Amino acid sequence: MFQQPYHQNSIQLITHRELFLKNLAQTSDFPLALEIEKAEGVYLYGKDGQKYIDLIAGIGVSNVGHRHPKVLQAIHNQLDKYLHLMVYGEYIQTPQVELAEALVKTLDLGCKKYPVLDNVYFTNSGTEAIEGAMKLAKRFTERQEIISCFNAYHGATQGALSLSGSENFKRNYRPLLPQIKQIRHGNFDDIQKISCRTAAIIIEIVSGEAGVRIPDYEYFKALRKQCDLTGTLLIVDEIQTGFGRTGTFWAFQQFGFYPDVLVCAKGMGGGMPIGAFIANQKIMSVFKNNPILGHITTFGGHPVSCAASLATLNVILEEKLLDDIQRKAQIFKDLLVHEKIKEIRNQGLMMAVEFEDFETLKPIIDKAIKKGVITDWFLFCDNSMRIAPPLIITEEEIRMACQTIISVSSLFN
Ligand code: PMP
Repeated sequence: MFQQPYHQNSIQLITHRELFLKNLAQTSDFPLALEIEKAEGVYLYGKDGQKYIDLIAGIGVSNVGHRHPKVLQAIHNQLDKYLHLMVYGEYIQTPQVELAEALVKTLDLGCKKYPVLDNVYFTNSGTEAIEGAMKLAKRFTERQEIISCFNAYHGATQGALSLSGSENFKRNYRPLLPQIKQIRHGNFDDIQKISCRTAAIIIEIVSGEAGVRIPDYEYFKALRKQCDLTGTLLIVDEIQTGFGRTGTFWAFQQFGFYPDVLVCAKGMGGGMPIGAFIANQKIMSVFKNNPILGHITTFGGHPVSCAASLATLNVILEEKLLDDIQRKAQIFKDLLVHEKIKEIRNQGLMMAVEFEDFETLKPIIDKAIKKGVITDWFLFCDNSMRIAPPLIITEEEIRMACQTIISVSSLFN
């Protein structure tokens, strides 16, 4: 068969929308299908000339805004040096080494009781980091049972999917991993289900896809106690909360405890793909033996992604973005007042705005997008609007966006 190189001109007669629907695997019958030409700061610019304010940051990713100049600079600098060199863990790659050191510093809280999380394994994504953390827990504890929470989302690969607290997402993909149990996030009684047979509990600090559910301050302390009692690893999934979203660099810092393993991705890359699971050296060393190369990745910790991630971390700290998060969240809460809004739940700039039901919310979200304000739902909470903007959003931008949400909320009865 005759094969040609791909040139843009060859597709003039068929729109990108048609090609998107024809050639890209679809995961629903109703994709948003916005065609974006450029993104900058908190804005996306559509091909149709529409300017959108991005109140979801690509689902918790663009925490420092789209194409932050310092992130772009770090990427450019690394492009001039090297891209992929070798599979993970063999060569000393400066961006990996520097990022790992910086991450460890954010985790060194002077906590005397628990060893500092000082060992980082880099991956390409959140779900891969979860897979690594699950393997680590099994090896370190020599146990098989893993506990997660109902309505949790930890990723789409089969191990992470096994942890999902939603039967709807799992049903048709069985068999999945055995010996996975679920407990209720934030429920003190359920903590007792963690036993000497449990390798790990994997838990988000704020239950994100359940619609931003925040546990009692004492909850994680009680969880920590039970894990210590039973020799279970306490693994926190900070993939959505990580790199500052909730107002502290890590969300666990607001709950008075220290985890055994921390998993992050999404917002850590400043728009580039990267994830990590972080533990102390003693725990992580199980990957060295029996078998050697106990966890392998080709691209995990890609040098360009690591450079972007380090720049992101530095932007958050140098530009003191954390200092302003509670104030910005409060502005949202003060402005999003409407008879249709039942409740706002938030931990910093991770927010859920609850409406009566999906039928009320759907036209509001659709219309807001048409008017240039992008929000979204949650996987397991369809009556709430997701708001998780870039942390750099200004007061004026918050006011503009809230005005649109309020005005479109009045349009439908
Ligand atoms: N854990 C949480 C809490 C998440 O929000 C997500 C992504 N939505 C994941 C894990 C999986 O991350 P990824 O999509 O990068 O695989």
